[in-house]
Amino acid sequence: MSGRPLPYIGSRDDWEGGSVTPSVVCVLAHNAGAWTLDGTNTWLLHVPGTSKCIVIDPGPDEQSHFKAILAAAHLRDCEIGAVILTHGHSDHSAGAKSLAELTNTKVRALDPKFQLGDEGLTGGDVITIGETELQVLATPGHSLDSMSFLLPHDGSLLTGDTVLGRGTAVITMPDGDLGAYFESLERLKEQVATHEVSWLLPGHGPALSGPTDILNSYVEHRIARLAEVREVVKAGAVTSTDVLDIVYADTPEKLKGAARQSVKAQLAYLKHLGEFTTDEDLTSPLAETLDVKD
Ligand SMILES: [Zn+2]
Repeated sequence: MSGRPLPYIGSRDDWEGGSVTPSVVCVLAHNAGAWTLDGTNTWLLHVPGTSKCIVIDPGPDEQSHFKAILAAAHLRDCEIGAVILTHGHSDHSAGAKSLAELTNTKVRALDPKFQLGDEGLTGGDVITIGETELQVLATPGHSLDSMSFLLPHDGSLLTGDTVLGRGTAVITMPDGDLGAYFESLERLKEQVATHEVSWLLPGHGPALSGPTDILNSYVEHRIARLAEVREVVKAGAVTSTDVLDIVYADTPEKLKGAARQSVKAQLAYLKHLGEFTTDEDLTSPLAETLDVKD
């Protein structure tokens, strides 16, 4: 049973960014790759007719991308009032301080090392910039510092790398955590139900309609993969390489680095549950970086 392909999750549509709702536009960064799908989604949030907007995840530190972000703000006749990060991975954060300095604003993030200014981010915060209100949700799992943002007036939920527009998210080591990730998916499901969310806006790949189905598929996918890993472990696998070779046998070579991180996260979870013992350092990060390009 091991290694079978699980059902496809997410959108099969092409994605070039652009407007999703009247208050949300995506400026797609040109950093497509195995880890970044079509590129990083830089989200510009703005209530039409108001003077300030928020930029979520400025992406790479590249002038051409800043130009595109500023052009999108100019087109809507708004100024950037805050730069906010879903998490610190470089494909989301590298350009944050440069863009903030360029626009004379601040950077807010959970991890202080990415902040510019004295305001951080905490789950439960409500951030209001101009007329745009953002509710902050702590959604650790993909990384320890992963945050999601609800735009209640817009029925949309920005998920960073916790939910992607295509395929499934990676639990990145050393600070990813599968147990926390399961809890974060439940938190997102609650938000979707409570606030009648109709769009998930991911950190990479197309915007997703049908959020409840997507989130249920994510949970099912994780449970199915974990069941496979459990079975392989029960059959005697002792290293992450053993598990990778069997459970992720059909994974394309360029995604094997991501799959290995997920294997380590799953083995760490089973170890935590007392179902697996190993001397292998499951927290060690891999040589692969998060901005590998094809
Ligand atoms: Zn990430």
